[in-house]
Amino acid sequence: MTYDSDNIFAKILRDEIPSTRVYEDADTIAFMDIMPRSDGHVLVVPKTPCRNMLDATAEQMAAVMKTVQLMSRALMVAFEADGITLQQFNETAGGQEVFHLHFHVLARHEGDRLGAPGKMGDQVVISQNADKIRASILDL
Ligand code: 5GP
Repeated sequence: MTYDSDNIFAKILRDEIPSTRVYEDADTIAFMDIMPRSDGHVLVVPKTPCRNMLDATAEQMAAVMKTVQLMSRALMVAFEADGITLQQFNETAGGQEVFHLHFHVLARHEGDRLGAPGKMGDQVVISQNADKIRASILDL
């Protein structure tokens, strides 16, 4: 399995297609999922190429997990969440659709259900939710 540098997240990293970024550091970015399954649905990716967890280096995994933890804490504050769900899929059989390593970080509330996958979100609402997340990161 080889890395395809034309995958959607590689294009987002190169700013060839727009995204709603909420966080960036030297090794990772975090941006809003365009088909959110909860109000706070963020994707965390490494800046360097790898398909998924199976070909990622330990350094890529460590950098991504550091940002996943930061985003999890920010989502707890931004949405007064009760918990966080992480999702991460590897290869088609594992449910992966975009082949650049990413973790889904989802804010959860007691008794809620995740929204259906594959449904485009309202960009105005996504932008408002991104503002809440950015503000919460500053407060951590
Ligand atoms: P997965 O590979 O984890 O199964 O799914 C890819 C995820 O990327 C989905 O949750 C989907 O909504 C999201 N996604 C697909 N295309 C785009 C895009 O162009 N921009 C953003 N922000 N998210 C995307």
